[in-house]
Amino acid sequence: MKKTISKLQGLRLISQIMFLFLMPELFTLIFNQLKKLYSMILKGNFDVISVWPQLLTMSTIFIITIIFGRFFCGWLCTFGAINDFIYIISKKVFKTKFKVDEKVDSILKYLKYVILLFIIVVIWTSGNTAFDSYSPWDAFAQVDNISGAIAEYTGGFILLAIIAIGAAFIERFFCRYLCPLGAVFTILSKARILKIKKLRDKCGPCRICTNNCSMGIKLYEMDKVNSGECINCFKCIAVCPRKNTKVNVLGEDVNPLLPSAIAIAAFTGVNALGGVMNDGMVNHSSNNTAASSSNVNKSEQKKYKDGTYTGVGKGKNPDLKVAVTIKDDKITNVEIVSNNETKGKEALSTIPNKIVDTQSTDVDVVSGATMTSKGIMEAVNDALSQAEIKDVNQKKYNDGIYTGIGQGKNPDLKVAVTVKDDKITNVEIVSNNETKGKEALEVIPKEIIEKQSTDVDAVSGATMTSKGIMMAVKDSLSQATKNN
Ligand code: SF4
Ligand code: SF4
Repeated sequence: MKKTISKLQGLRLISQIMFLFLMPELFTLIFNQLKKLYSMILKGNFDVISVWPQLLTMSTIFIITIIFGRFFCGWLCTFGAINDFIYIISKKVFKTKFKVDEKVDSILKYLKYVILLFIIVVIWTSGNTAFDSYSPWDAFAQVDNISGAIAEYTGGFILLAIIAIGAAFIERFFCRYLCPLGAVFTILSKARILKIKKLRDKCGPCRICTNNCSMGIKLYEMDKVNSGECINCFKCIAVCPRKNTKVNVLGEDVNPLLPSAIAIAAFTGVNALGGVMNDGMVNHSSNNTAASSSNVNKSEQKKYKDGTYTGVGKGKNPDLKVAVTIKDDKITNVEIVSNNETKGKEALSTIPNKIVDTQSTDVDVVSGATMTSKGIMEAVNDALSQAEIKDVNQKKYNDGIYTGIGQGKNPDLKVAVTVKDDKITNVEIVSNNETKGKEALEVIPKEIIEKQSTDVDAVSGATMTSKGIMMAVKDSLSQATKNN
């Protein structure tokens, strides 16, 4: 039996190492998909048919978690694995085990819900970018380029250092107290069918299981672990000298290898299948886009009618009204007509000038006045939509395939962009030297095609690679531009 248990822990270690090297972006991928789902629901444009391939990884993990519990945390997550490795090394070096007081531990465990709530309310709902540089997972993605990224992610690197120090003394420090995704998993796994069973009347007084639990669960005071904190690491099974700790599924004791293998196989299988289907759907939708745009006529040249147009946006408060003057297809003036902003007044003078200077509504927000800045941009876009000459059919781009170069984390990120009937129908990564942030190589091209814009959200944890792709696509499009 002992051999089987050791084998189980060995397999878990192999799984953690494999996912660390093969899919280190899993944590950020799931977190990004959760953010996407939330923002679609918030904007009321959640369409399950068209978006499910983009949310497949998160959905698969969530379903596995609901049914079997947190195999993702115990077996697959890079952040969790690194917490484990730091703790194992520190235990060997310091030869001591730091114990958190049980009461303090149970209070600190609520911190991750506070963090999750903060991210949802302050960052995701308001679109506040002030905390971008504090993301420890974005900083983690830059660890092989610390010197280049330290200025951009100073807060993130400081948090990462705190997490690493914490992990050296407290097992699964980040998972227990800070992880917002862990908070979601804790809630989701509450009603799982797989539980750790440990009958107290068959226990000795040793408390070995409790002392070895990765998540500090007080096993000594229960017969069954119902807590969503359990990450299915099965260490409690490995250490019990009486073999009293068992995996129980719907009342039946089972070999822990079985649910572990099912959970991992289900995840890898569905994910691989989804990748293939996703590619198919993107190509299909690109072709449809190209086909539907083939009826565009050619006559008009100008994009906007001359005149002054009003538009409305929402800053920190509603009814931020602007007047935009267009002359000879140029934005010649942006005036704030009225507003109810109580803070961020600086944006009211800065953003209009930036828009006129750059002839674009995609300008940098004023720090500390993000919502007001975005409200002005929204209002100007609203005004421009009224100024647009609706039957514009002068093509912007020549059909063809154009290559462009961008700078991601490393130089020479090369893309090939296919333009047909004035639409971007394909974006292919021709070559790159990116060592991390691989997820962006897959996600950003699809987003660009979907939005027909190079102004898409960067993939969290792969910001530099995301920006490099956008830069390369812009470079390509500049060559495709008519009268270039
Ligand atoms: S709690 Fe968070 S960091 Fe820890 S393993 Fe789970 S998802 Fe990963
Ligand atoms: S109860 Fe057992 S399986 Fe769950 S986290 Fe603790 S040691 Fe791991």
